[in-house]
Amino acid sequence: MLEASGLMVFYENMLALNNINIQCGQGQIVGVFGANSAGKSTLMYTLSGIMQDIQKKEDMAGGERITILGDVIYQGENISRLKPSQRARKGIVLCPERRRIFSESSVLENLKIGGYLASPAQARKTLAYVFEIFPALEKLKKRVGGFLSGGEQQMLAIGRAIMAQPKLLLLDEPLLGLSPLMQAMLMRATREIRDRMEISIIVTEQYARPVFPIVDYAFILENGAAVMEGTREELMDNPDVRSAYFGVEEPHA
Ligand code: ATP
Repeated sequence: MLEASGLMVFYENMLALNNINIQCGQGQIVGVFGANSAGKSTLMYTLSGIMQDIQKKEDMAGGERITILGDVIYQGENISRLKPSQRARKGIVLCPERRRIFSESSVLENLKIGGYLASPAQARKTLAYVFEIFPALEKLKKRVGGFLSGGEQQMLAIGRAIMAQPKLLLLDEPLLGLSPLMQAMLMRATREIRDRMEISIIVTEQYARPVFPIVDYAFILENGAAVMEGTREELMDNPDVRSAYFGVEEPHA
């Protein structure tokens, strides 16, 4: 479904992505884990095409020189040069970090804006589905986004993203700053969305623990490079991964 190879991104001379090769198969949930500044958002921007927009804006403003290299193949097509809007139309939808919802607009307006790519019938059906998986949002549909709790804002951000009819949903740090209970609920909802909508999902997070139960495959990023990858089982069995990303101390022999 998606295969990115040799991705490199430089902010001026600073290497933010270092020869990343990642894949996400049809119907898979793929995790990308890494500490602050490991390159998670840069990767998500590069896959969704937003990196190219940032690059152009910087160019026009005479700002920093951003270099993007490598290929993104999506459903057999090389989309590396496509704009984010073209990628969105093909079904690549980014749910950005820090839940960038429209804080002055109501929950319902936020969701409807998300549905701009959908036919009216699709939008109606997806809206009903968003309220089915996140019943809290239906109760809050008239409330403005800015007055929602962090967890409610994240539900809204995911709801808005799925209104755009994704085939590949990119979730950038959806759990940041949320309680363990809310994190678990959002991850269950994410798996349920994958199953029901039959889509693929790439999710980044700093800590693997809350996301791990739902991933099929995962990559570990360090300083812009993918230093490890494997199925959930392979990574769980790896003592280095367990201690670094799960806080599980290995018993001393
Ligand atoms: P976080 O968990 O803090 O969001 P991240 O893993 O998403 O981190 P990125 O935001 O992709 O990491 O950043 C990767 C590196 O690139 C960092 O060192 C960051 O400071 C740097 N960086 C990001 N954006 C820019 C920019 N516009 N100009 C210069 N450097 C940048």
